[in-house]
This record gives sequence, structure tokens and C-alpha cells, in this order.
Amino acid sequence: MTTRHDITIIGAGIVGIATAVYLQRDGHRVTVVDKGEPGRGTSYGNAGSVAPSSIIPIAMPGTIRNIPKWITDPLGPLTISWRRVPSLFPWFLHFRAACTREGAMRGARALRSLNGASLESYKERLAFVGAADLLRHDGMLHVYRSEAAFAGTAFSRQLRTELAGEVRSSTRCAFMISSLRFLPTIATAFSCATMGTCAVRSASCMRWPVISPRAVGRSCEPQFIG
Ligand SMILES: Cc1cc2nc3c(=O)[nH]c(=O)nc-3n(C[C@H](O)[C@H](O)[C@H](O)COP(=O)(O)OP(=O)(O)OC[C@H]3O[C@@H](n4cnc5c(N)ncnc54)[C@H](O)[C@@H]3O)c2cc1C
Repeated sequence: MTTRHDITIIGAGIVGIATAVYLQRDGHRVTVVDKGEPGRGTSYGNAGSVAPSSIIPIAMPGTIRNIPKWITDPLGPLTISWRRVPSLFPWFLHFRAACTREGAMRGARALRSLNGASLESYKERLAFVGAADLLRHDGMLHVYRSEAAFAGTAFSRQLRTELAGEVRSSTRCAFMISSLRFLPTIATAFSCATMGTCAVRSASCMRWPVISPRAVGRSCEPQFIG
């Protein structure tokens, strides 16, 4: 690198901090600005999962069929502002056209190209700041309340298997599945082997950016301006 720049990043969540770490590693002088404490936004209360196999697009065969159920359920995953429906309509037509097996395969490939390197990149970044111990590489178990719900995900499991080589059962997983079968609400499960989890826990959640200010502070001495 020939030119050093003074760079200001707004937002000290995982995205801002990760960007700062890489820029500082490249020799730039970085200031991270946040209106609150670093790492207390969305990055504070997530599941801490680092997921190369998060490649299943929302536009899947069957998504359109679920929309009425999702909209009418107050706890459903979809809310629509009816005022905006006319302006959303052209987008919706594209979305509907993508809800085919071919469209889903295209979406999954695109997501794989974005997420595929996430675990390795995260490992590398943690190692760079001397915090490799915070990442566990122990896979993820997907559990289902019924065999029918499990069967309904056959295509997404196929996508994960074909594109991410992901879905399999290890001995440990098989043991976990057989234990879970005793629980009345869980009928079946599958495992994704290449998932990682960030091991910094508070009472109920992972705190990714706790890593980053601590880590950046060790290696790069950022300035936080609240
Ligand atoms: C319940 C839940 C679970 C999740 N689980 C996972 C998971 O397991 N795996 C995964 O990969 N992702 C997960 N996510 C998503 C992930 O947490 C977010 O994608 C990620 O934290 C976003 O990071 P960020 O840095 O963009 O945002 P934030 O962490 O929200 O950081 C933004 C920062 O910008 C600051 N800011 C905003 N506006 C201004 C301003 N005007 N001036 C100064 N500062 C400002 C805020 O104070 C905040 O600190 C989950 C999300 C949720 C809600």
C-alpha cells in the first residue's frame, strides 16, 4: 500500500468494527464513531452463529403460498405497509418470478458466494486480533416439530447439500437427535456441519462486537467517539 488515509466509520457494530480492523491492518488510520457504546446495537443481541450454509433464499418455491398466512399472523415473519403496495408491485412481480426451483438455485449460489468464506474469514480475523478461542466450530442442529415440517424442507436441504456440502449426521448429532426425539415438541432434526458459533455469551445471547473493541484495542488502538 502506498497511501495512508484517515478514515471515519460511523457505527461500531460488527460491520463497522470488522471494516475498521481490515482498514487498520492495511495501514490506514481509522476512527470509529458511534452514538452509543460500541457493540450495543443489533450486534449485541444475536445468536452468534457464523453460517457459511446460510444460503437458502427467501424466494423459494412455496414462499408465495405462505404469504397470506404470514401476513395474517401477528407473530408472522412478514408485515406489509398497504400504502406502499403500488410502489412495491414491480418488485413483487420479480420476486414471484424468482420463486421457482431454478430461481432458488440461482439465489442460493449467489448467497453461497457471499457467505461461503464467512467461517474462515471470521477465524482469520479472530486469529489476527489474538481471540481465536472465541469461535467454536461445532455445527448446528435444525429441529422440527413434525415429520411433515421436516419433509417440507427437502429442497432447502438439497440446496445446502449440493452447494455447501452441509447436511449430514455425525455420531454426536445422531445421539442428540435420538435424545431430542423424547421431547414431545421435536420430531426430527438434521445437522449442518460447518457452522461456527462465537463463544462470548451474556445471559441469553452472543455478543459479537465485544470481540471487536477488545480485539481492536489490543492491536490497533482505535478511537471511539460516542
Ligand atoms: C435476534 C437476532 C439474531 C441474529 N442472529 C444472527 C446470527 O446468529 N448470525 C448472524 O450472522 N447474524 C445474526 N443476526 C444479524 C446480525 O446481528 C446483524 O446483521 C449485525 O449485527 C448487523 O451489524 P451492524 O454493525 O450492521 O449493526 P449494529 O450492530 O446495529 O451496529 C450499528 C451501530 O451504528 C450505530 N449508529 C446508528 N446510527 C448512528 C448514527 N447516526 N451516528 C452514530 N452511530 C450510529 C448504532 O448505535 C450501532 O452501534 C441476528 C439479528 C437479530 C436481530
